[in-house]
Amino acid sequence: MKYVLVTGGVVSGLGKGVTASSIGVLLKNCGLRVTSIKIDPYLNIDAGTMSPFEHGEVFVLDDGGEVDLDLGNYERFLDITLTRDNNLTTGKVYQSVLDRERRGDYLGKTVQVVPHITDAIQDWIQRVAHIPVDGRDGVPDVCVIELGGTVGDIESSPFVEALRQFHFKVGPNNMCIVHVSLVPIIGVVGEQKTKPTQHSVAVLRSLGLHPDLLACRCSEPLDDSVRGKLALFCQVPPENVLTMHDVSNIWRVPLLMQSQDAHKTILRVLGLSGHAEKLDMH
Ligand code: ADP
Repeated sequence: MKYVLVTGGVVSGLGKGVTASSIGVLLKNCGLRVTSIKIDPYLNIDAGTMSPFEHGEVFVLDDGGEVDLDLGNYERFLDITLTRDNNLTTGKVYQSVLDRERRGDYLGKTVQVVPHITDAIQDWIQRVAHIPVDGRDGVPDVCVIELGGTVGDIESSPFVEALRQFHFKVGPNNMCIVHVSLVPIIGVVGEQKTKPTQHSVAVLRSLGLHPDLLACRCSEPLDDSVRGKLALFCQVPPENVLTMHDVSNIWRVPLLMQSQDAHKTILRVLGLSGHAEKLDMH
């Protein structure tokens, strides 16, 4: 099993969901079977009780699970059928750990965020990633995990720590980390600013996760000099800095990524380069 982790920095609502779905489309079109998990670091058990004005509309899955909108993107982009377990929230993790605590499963131990919550997160991811979602038998090849929120938030820290441990456990060739960030354009000269991305990558690295690719949201295509600067400061090769500028329609985002060979880079990190030649976007 291979994993692609999509994290986000600077601000929320940048397009992590669209980026994660688009990566799924590219990998699927390379002949891989793809599943996905969305992590939402809030204490609600699910999105069913949350105001649509605050959180966007609730997406209802075939099994009745009331989940985040992004799962709708995954289902439509990838032609898969997800279950409520594909949406992991802080509420669900704590509920499962507290249920086990009440049953006495921890045998008198002090139950703590590390290791009990972080272990429960890793067990959940591993279990759900292995469940087929495309109507065929057998284990999927790749699980795209989207970590909601912004790295550095208090809310997401148990998930970031769990994913750091998980990355170490599965090994660097089995997980590719894509960090979605913002490159704002400031001032009358229209300069593209790299500092917010530099800072968010520094935060991510301080938490033990090193991005393999940067997906930079910008209103305009990234300048080559900006790409080079981000590569230098964030310690990724320039070709791993993707320009994710505004496009007229989110269905164009997979093509935008393909035109920058994002699939080849991701497959190389995952040790699956042979699949890159199979890409068929028709
Ligand atoms: P997040 O998961 O980070 O909260 P979403 O994936 O839900 O963000 O995207 C937020 C909004 O940005 C959505 O309305 C989406 O359609 C839009 N969006 C994302 N990427 C692009 C892009 N490259 N061009 C134009 N709009 C985009």
